[in-house]
Amino acid sequence: MTRILHRQIGGKLPIAVGGQGVEIIDQDGRRYIDACGGAAVSCLGHGHPDIIAAISSQAAKMAYAHTGFFTNEPAEELAALLVEKAPSGISHAYFVSGGSEANEAALKMARQYFVEKGEPQRSKIIARRQSYHGNTLGALAAGGNEWRRAQFAPLLVETHHIGPCYAYRYQKPGEGEEEYGLRAANELETKILELGADSVMAFLAEPVVGATAGAVPAVKGYLKRVREICDQYGVLLILDEVMCGMGRTGTLFACEEDDVAPDIVTIAKGLGGGYQPIGAALLSQKIHDAFAHGSGFFQHGHTYIGHPTACAAALAVQKVMERDNLLQNVRDMGEYLRQKLHERFGQNPVIGDIRGRGLFIGIELVSDRETKEPFAPALKLHAAVKREAMARGLMVYPGGGTIDGRRGDHILLAPPFIINREIADEIVSRL
Ligand code: PLP
Repeated sequence: MTRILHRQIGGKLPIAVGGQGVEIIDQDGRRYIDACGGAAVSCLGHGHPDIIAAISSQAAKMAYAHTGFFTNEPAEELAALLVEKAPSGISHAYFVSGGSEANEAALKMARQYFVEKGEPQRSKIIARRQSYHGNTLGALAAGGNEWRRAQFAPLLVETHHIGPCYAYRYQKPGEGEEEYGLRAANELETKILELGADSVMAFLAEPVVGATAGAVPAVKGYLKRVREICDQYGVLLILDEVMCGMGRTGTLFACEEDDVAPDIVTIAKGLGGGYQPIGAALLSQKIHDAFAHGSGFFQHGHTYIGHPTACAAALAVQKVMERDNLLQNVRDMGEYLRQKLHERFGQNPVIGDIRGRGLFIGIELVSDRETKEPFAPALKLHAAVKREAMARGLMVYPGGGTIDGRRGDHILLAPPFIINREIADEIVSRL
């Protein structure tokens, strides 16, 4: 009998005992192609010798040293490397243990920034309805996923939601893509004015929406207009790249494609590639300076921030990505996989849209391609897809985003960056 409180109580899960390359192996010897990297985590696949070596070497040297007493080499080296590659203005890194913690830290940084600047009335967060920023109370408050939020609503801090940038659903007939992007971004300005510009501290958004919509990239120009609006009203722009960052979309940071620099960008998942739990909030010089010239500290902290073994793993992931030119492979294989999915499913009557960027691909399921009507939520189609895929030795990440107040279904593919054409073909074939 299990003594773990599993996500699905009473469900029976296979016991994973091994991982090799793109596959996970269960106790009965069954192999599953990990076509979603768990939840867009396992960017180098499983059992990578370089990462294992980096972890064991660091653990042998020194597993842990509390950041209240020491800094450590892998954390310093990782921070320097990420800052060097980050969008302009980013100057420092704050390491945590995952995506929710990264967003909690980012929200607290935003709040403290305005307190230090003498604008303590700025406390409101604006985010988007199709978004997920984590499950801790602050991150959950920011997210727009209704079914995750509903029962915890009395505990959540004040957040206001605007519509997403989701062309397949909300671009009007006859409306150009950039025109739609502007219209969607301008919702932010309307909301800021409605709330009172000097009460808003931050706008938080995923550049490519993951779990709540299924790999939906913002259209060209959307994030640029968002940046302009934030600058105009003195609101901080926080980009959540927990899922879409660290190379998943073919550039190290997804916002590089949009040519936009945030004030804070959060990363996790692919940062440690699943080998260690690690996330980070990367912040800009102006936020750092407000703390440095103000109170002199960031009023936050967890026991495991800047964990040396986790940082050593993340550093090794970065080095392998660079050495093996994996960002190029993400772009090439992403293109190939999308093309094969279009060939195989492009005319399928229940597939409404195939989209994404790099190896971050969403397939939206609809009951009617013309009207884009989702399937009845009671069917729990995404759960059925997951079950059937597992039965065929394939892991896909099924999602149920909210579409106009009801649940829709999509399949998210986020395979490791090391895949080749043969594996991509096998994923399509099993799907
Ligand atoms: N932000 C985004 C965009 C995510 O997709 C997730 C997790 O799926 C999170 C934040 C939360 O990360 P974690 O589950 O590591 O706390």
